[in-house]
Amino acid sequence: MAESVTNWAGNITYTAKELHRPRSLDALRAVVAGGERVRVLGSGHSFNALADPGAEGVLLSLDALPAEVDVDTAARTVRVGGGVRYAELARRVHAHGLALANMASLPHISVAGSVATGTHGSGVGNGPLADAVREVEIVTADGSTVVIARGDERFGGAVTSLGALGVVTALTLDLDPAFEVEQHLYTELPLEGLDFETVAASAYSVSLFTDWRAPGFTQVWRKRRTDQPLPDFPWAVPAKVALHPVPGMPARNCTAQFGVPGPWHERLPHFRAEFTPSSGAELQSEYLLPREHALGALQAIDGIRDTVAAVLQICEVRTVAADAQWLSPSSGRDSVAVHFTWVADTPAVLAVLGRLEEVLEPFAPRPHWGKVFTTPVPALRESYPRLADFRALARELDPAGTFTNAFVRELLAE
Ligand SMILES: Cc1cc2nc3c(=O)[nH]c(=O)nc-3n(C[C@H](O)[C@H](O)[C@H](O)COP(=O)(O)OP(=O)(O)OC[C@H]3O[C@@H](n4cnc5c(N)ncnc54)[C@H](O)[C@@H]3O)c2cc1C
Repeated sequence: MAESVTNWAGNITYTAKELHRPRSLDALRAVVAGGERVRVLGSGHSFNALADPGAEGVLLSLDALPAEVDVDTAARTVRVGGGVRYAELARRVHAHGLALANMASLPHISVAGSVATGTHGSGVGNGPLADAVREVEIVTADGSTVVIARGDERFGGAVTSLGALGVVTALTLDLDPAFEVEQHLYTELPLEGLDFETVAASAYSVSLFTDWRAPGFTQVWRKRRTDQPLPDFPWAVPAKVALHPVPGMPARNCTAQFGVPGPWHERLPHFRAEFTPSSGAELQSEYLLPREHALGALQAIDGIRDTVAAVLQICEVRTVAADAQWLSPSSGRDSVAVHFTWVADTPAVLAVLGRLEEVLEPFAPRPHWGKVFTTPVPALRESYPRLADFRALARELDPAGTFTNAFVRELLAE
């Protein structure tokens, strides 16, 4: 490529020979029908080369297309263009008195790219962000548009698709009436005696943070819908100052705390839309495991605490309700998601990941598709019982493998 294009974290330089930014759907169709391998680049917030088509292929960004956000207040749905990010979507939806059920830790990510990888927020009753999707519009390799809606037998593969079916040019999402949320933060939650189920279910969305320098959690973030009760939380100490999850980062980058109520989209993400989220100089990994294994998995990580802590900025533990997308890491399993924000040192992180994946292995982990992992492809294949259905769908919509890369081809190989 003339200019080098990297992901948000800067650890991946895409090897594609060109980056296309079509300004119209017709121009997009022309790129796709050009006979080359194509992968879509969303907002580039993944930490691996999932979006990269390889040196023979081209990247397609949708950020120059008109940013469609079309709210239907009567139907309580929104049709959103394939390049739109959550920050813009949330602002527009809220202006109509409506809401998304949940959001990830930051609003800077694209909707299509997020649901393609199984991106999630937290909450025992909240599925991944893909749960809100009711219809997907996909431009396939011959330039035609396929619409797959809930109820279609192909729907289970259509949303969390790793970009392997075609270009998602629009999604229709379900909305709820707008609601308000308060954030209540705590410090010093011990691992010993942790009643994970009760803690995780103690608010609409709960996140536990630890730097693994001690066997416990440095912070607890409880996001309470103001129309729901907030049970007492006797296990930890209410925070006295505003906090950022990553030690040393300024709390002003974070959404309002101390129980100040505010609109859903200004409380569900940890990070404010107008600031650079998280730490910036970082890598991330995350593993989703059946929720009944939460305590066992946390104890296993505690057993290698020093190894993990040596390259860790912060670890976040969340929950995700089971969903029905075939390739979703939370597919068919109420899950605990154990996330790691590492230092920006790939060799050092990879060395620790091997050990971490080894201790998590007995708990049937599925890595987040958008983060750094070293899980071998055969193990990935085994952990997705509907993989063959997805493979069949990919062959139906993309028989020539236009939207694949080396990783996707290996994953879908028979
Ligand atoms: C600071 C930070 C915080 C994060 N927080 C969370 C979190 O709270 N929860 C969580 O689960 N994850 C989180 N993530 C991970 C992130 O949500 C995922 O990596 C997500 O996929 C990013 O979306 P994107 O558009 O940037 O994807 P990209 O990296 O651009 O693309 C991801 C995949 O989607 C495909 N794709 C993108 N757009 C389209 C399209 N229109 N049509 C077809 N395929 C497409 C790409 O080809 C690629 O395969 C975080 C990442 C960062 C950097």
